[in-house]
Amino acid sequence: MSMDLPMIWQRTLREVVSIVGIGLHSGQKVELTITPAPADTGIIFRRVDLHPAAEIRAIATEVTETQLATCIGTGEARISTVEHLMSALYGLGIDNAFVELDGPELPIMDGSSAPFAFLLQSAGITVQQRHLKKFIRIKKPVEVVEGLDEQGQPTAQYKSAGFYPHDGFRIDFTIEYNHPVFQPNVQRLVVDFAEQSYLQAVSRARTYGFKAEYEWMRSRNLALGGSLANAIVIDDYRILNEDGLRYEDEFVRHKILDAVGDIYMLGASLIGEFRGVKSGHGLNNKLARALLADSEAWEWVTFGKEAHAQAPRAYTNPQWEPVPA
Ligand SMILES: [Zn+2]
Repeated sequence: MSMDLPMIWQRTLREVVSIVGIGLHSGQKVELTITPAPADTGIIFRRVDLHPAAEIRAIATEVTETQLATCIGTGEARISTVEHLMSALYGLGIDNAFVELDGPELPIMDGSSAPFAFLLQSAGITVQQRHLKKFIRIKKPVEVVEGLDEQGQPTAQYKSAGFYPHDGFRIDFTIEYNHPVFQPNVQRLVVDFAEQSYLQAVSRARTYGFKAEYEWMRSRNLALGGSLANAIVIDDYRILNEDGLRYEDEFVRHKILDAVGDIYMLGASLIGEFRGVKSGHGLNNKLARALLADSEAWEWVTFGKEAHAQAPRAYTNPQWEPVPA
């Protein structure tokens, strides 16, 4: 009866899908299975190799570690490197899913979110009629900053992250490296999701790292699954991957991919702008917690019958439409 109104409903997968890959840090083979979930479930991770199986909600307050990747849960029941899958789930507008893993770390795949996006698309995405998608709308700016001196002036370690009111979904990210591969040293990119598609603008950007850091991690039994097949690796002068970059500005695009995943740890899609300067998972998590703790700074919104015309264009363009199975 109301099929003509572009109300925004919740979404889940049409079918169960699985993929096998290796964990970046453990180097171990892991099977990832994503299954449909009822409306209002959110994204729930499950460690199915534990008895009983452990369930962890993908929410900023469950994040226990952000040093090398975003990790949720505690003790034995922890899951690491959730950010790229979370990014793909946000990018395809999936509200509800169970994510099952038979190990402590998500597979790294090719270091981007494109293989996860492909997996989700191949499952098919289905609309959960009568259950309106819930958004978090930013009402006033919330910012977190690190690296100021005693006079409040930025030092070389300065970084910041913030949420700002905006009628849509937009990410503005700046990176800075004093290194010959990064020309210019300061790179800034704005992706406005009212105009650009997540799949095209963001999903293929791979994670990157410096050879020296990688060797340091190896010496500490980390990054055991790391290779040129799942990261862009940079030495003192150049990029070591033979095929070079997938986007001219792939580094800053990957930071936007990561930010989308970190933002989804709010537990809902955002109506607002995220701005990051040299920010990473740690500061993004601090920002997400600061927002969730400040009830004046945001509100829940849905776009039902009366409000449908007010839905921001970032969430009504074709990329959010279900993909035929
Ligand atoms: Zn990443």
